Amino acid sequence: MRYEIIKELEGLVGPGRASYAPEDLAAYSYDAYTEECRPDIVLFPVSTDEVSAVMKTAYRETIPVTARGSGTNLAGESVPVRGGIAMCLTRMDKILSIDSQNLTATVQPGVVNMDLQQAAGKAGMMYPPDPASWAVATMGGTVGTNAGGPRTLKYGVTKDYLLGLTVVLADGAILQTGGRTIKNVTGYNLNGLFCGSEGTLGIFTQITVRLIPKPQAERTIRADFANLEDCSDAVSAIMASGIVPAALELMNRFAIRAVEKSFGLGLPVDMDGILLIQVDGNPTTLAGEVGHIERILRDTGAVNIITAEDPPDAERLWTARRYAGPALMRLRPNTITEDVTVPVSNLTAMIRKVVEICERHRIQVGVLAHAGDGNLHPCMVFDRRDEDEFKRVRMVCEDLVPEALALGGTLSGEHGIGIAKAPFLKLEMDPVALRVMQGIKDYFDPKGILNPGKFV
Ligand SMILES: Cc1cc2nc3c(=O)[nH]c(=O)nc-3n(C[C@H](O)[C@H](O)[C@H](O)COP(=O)(O)OP(=O)(O)OC[C@H]3O[C@@H](n4cnc5c(N)ncnc54)[C@H](O)[C@@H]3O)c2cc1C
Repeated sequence: MRYEIIKELEGLVGPGRASYAPEDLAAYSYDAYTEECRPDIVLFPVSTDEVSAVMKTAYRETIPVTARGSGTNLAGESVPVRGGIAMCLTRMDKILSIDSQNLTATVQPGVVNMDLQQAAGKAGMMYPPDPASWAVATMGGTVGTNAGGPRTLKYGVTKDYLLGLTVVLADGAILQTGGRTIKNVTGYNLNGLFCGSEGTLGIFTQITVRLIPKPQAERTIRADFANLEDCSDAVSAIMASGIVPAALELMNRFAIRAVEKSFGLGLPVDMDGILLIQVDGNPTTLAGEVGHIERILRDTGAVNIITAEDPPDAERLWTARRYAGPALMRLRPNTITEDVTVPVSNLTAMIRKVVEICERHRIQVGVLAHAGDGNLHPCMVFDRRDEDEFKRVRMVCEDLVPEALALGGTLSGEHGIGIAKAPFLKLEMDPVALRVMQGIKDYFDPKGILNPGKFV
């Protein structure tokens, strides 16, 4: 990038909010996937007007711009593969309103998911989308990826709560989508279009979401299984029982052991799998649901069932699941977390395939799953510097996708496409769908400067 452009961009965001120091360029060159590429400059705008001014310059000069929250995505979506500007939105971190009369919240994109959850909770409400990365993932990033999480099973994903956006377009124009009302069918559903667009269509600078009343009570159950297939059969049995848990999560033996190694939470390391189940709702009906689920767990072979007595006890059980990703990431220098998703009735078959494929390619895998919605996260641990091992990891990814598709699934349930899944997109989407998506991209980003090199 030319020196005078660097100086112009620096001037647009003000002192202390632009950097081209090599250590900063390195820090913003990667995310939670395995690829890296340095930007030419990192900018930290604090307002819609600043983002718009930067985009006007980028558009004029045809400079790539990659929007970025906390960089926790698992598909290379915030790696600036063509260099240019890394636009980091984390300093736009204000909760602008929590409206308990209309059940909405309006936030800047850098607000961390957990902070919104806690603010909503204090006002007696809940913001359901809860990625396991909730303590760091930003609202901009969760809209950018249409993030899900454990509670997706009962409550849906980010798109189901998105009411309105302020979006800065490629040429710097400022677009308002949706609004603040629960119902709004005026015009095309632009919220739906931008949600999950991975920074390829525009940059969000304000987000309005729907909140719901906080459930009156919650109960958490952990069930330990000596056999992983029994564990996933229990998931199908619970889902067929007529009870919709708020969350139904699965961890395999390798993941259990990783958590124990790093955090020593007292998990059963001799078990093949555990399930974590949360039910919520009216306290009078919950006891019956808990009893029913406990019976199903026993019938499907659970060797140990723990039902939390109180919220701190439940939180202790959930800590194991929240720490599972980081624990696996500590085992070896690199991880790739897959995201294949199948109809829940095919969960056992898909888990069997995951284990079989990883064994065939001699790759260690921790299986985490938002099991109730068939969303599997086989987390492969490896050392990228070992070329042979890295090649085998890639073979696992190549083999997993067709298996998921053959079982009626999709190549990504919640992590998105980025660079990780781009080569597989045409296996799932037909040429007409690909052409329509390319047309949308061309309309919003005629010069191809918004997060180029990604799925479109
Ligand atoms: C341990 C761990 C657990 C995880 N668990 C889950 C989970 O349960 N569910 C789940 O869905 N994901 C999960 N993820 C993936 C990741 O945390 C989510 O995708 C999250 O939404 C990314 O937020 P971020 O702030 O890190 O965004 P980033 O990774 O920085 O960006 C993600 C994408 O959004 C775009 N983007 C960011 N901000 C903006 C903006 N303001 N405007 C436009 N585009 C923008 C980026 O360009 C990029 O394409 C997990 C990741 C880790 C490491």
